[in-house]
Amino acid sequence: MSNNETPVAVIGLGLMGQALASAFLAAGHPTTVWNRTPDKAERLAAEGAVIASSVGKALAAGAVTIICLTDYRAVRDLLDDPDVDLTTTTLVNLTSGNSAQARDAARWAEQRGARYLDGAIMAIPATIGTAEATILHSGPQAVFEEHRHVLETLGASTYLGADPGLASLYDVAGLTMMWSVLNAWLQGTAMLRTAGVDATTFAPFARQIAAGVADWLPGYADQIDRGDYSATVAALETDARAMEHMVQESELLGVNTELPKLIKAMADRAIAAGHGGEQYPVLIEEFARERAS
Ligand code: NAP
Repeated sequence: MSNNETPVAVIGLGLMGQALASAFLAAGHPTTVWNRTPDKAERLAAEGAVIASSVGKALAAGAVTIICLTDYRAVRDLLDDPDVDLTTTTLVNLTSGNSAQARDAARWAEQRGARYLDGAIMAIPATIGTAEATILHSGPQAVFEEHRHVLETLGASTYLGADPGLASLYDVAGLTMMWSVLNAWLQGTAMLRTAGVDATTFAPFARQIAAGVADWLPGYADQIDRGDYSATVAALETDARAMEHMVQESELLGVNTELPKLIKAMADRAIAAGHGGEQYPVLIEEFARERAS
């Protein structure tokens, strides 16, 4: 059987599930779909999808079944039925969640006799089916390799390791990066707007800063992995003085000070712990420590 003849099923036809099913159909896969609210399957039926009359029938139709629902609770509610047979398909769960939920789901599915891969979609529906869509997978490598070509229909599919929690963990780490960068940009924009500089004018400058900082990551990562935080560029106490300007400036301008104060508080704690002469990545010690909220 050539790759695009592999029959697939998609369970969950929200905005993302519809995009996933469309990508399979565009690549020529026989595609069976199921959704709790049946209307959402109609456009896909017009594209050539077969609408299954039950979840069990969808699972039985796909050599690979993608499930993409709101959350893991919905996945369990839907599949936790003794009449639903999980043994005939490879179940690929692309629902977003945390790593504990993913590990739980993998254990539960394997107890039910399923071949199970977890996954996380780091993309928007419009990019599904193109190389722009990053889709992360974790779970048994042999299962991923068996279906790699089918999964690559959906985007740039990356295998992260046997621990089924890894895809969710990378997803959440990536989201942390994304929102942190956006929040930093919004803080800078709020500051500059007080002087009549609009967001569009600041954006190219902000982009250059973000790209420059991204270039530091490999060197800083090496310091973290070696546990050697020798200051070769700047000591943390030098950075902390500039952080004080950031806090003062925000106060003087009357903009929000929460993010500047958080940044400074993390550095102050590391300095109090004796790391003032070391380089910025030493803050990993603060980030790695649980703190009461
Ligand atoms: P959505 O448009 O809100 O669709 C949610 C889907 O889940 C619908 O098919 C819904 O069925 C189904 N569902 C919810 N609870 C259910 C239950 N108890 N039983 C059966 N079906 C149930 O959401 P989405 O945008 O497609 O997102 C789906 C997943 O993809 C989420 O985990 C999301 O985080 C992830 N994701 C989405 C994006 C994005 O840009 N949209 C990007 C990355 C990841 P009904 O149609 O019957 O309500």
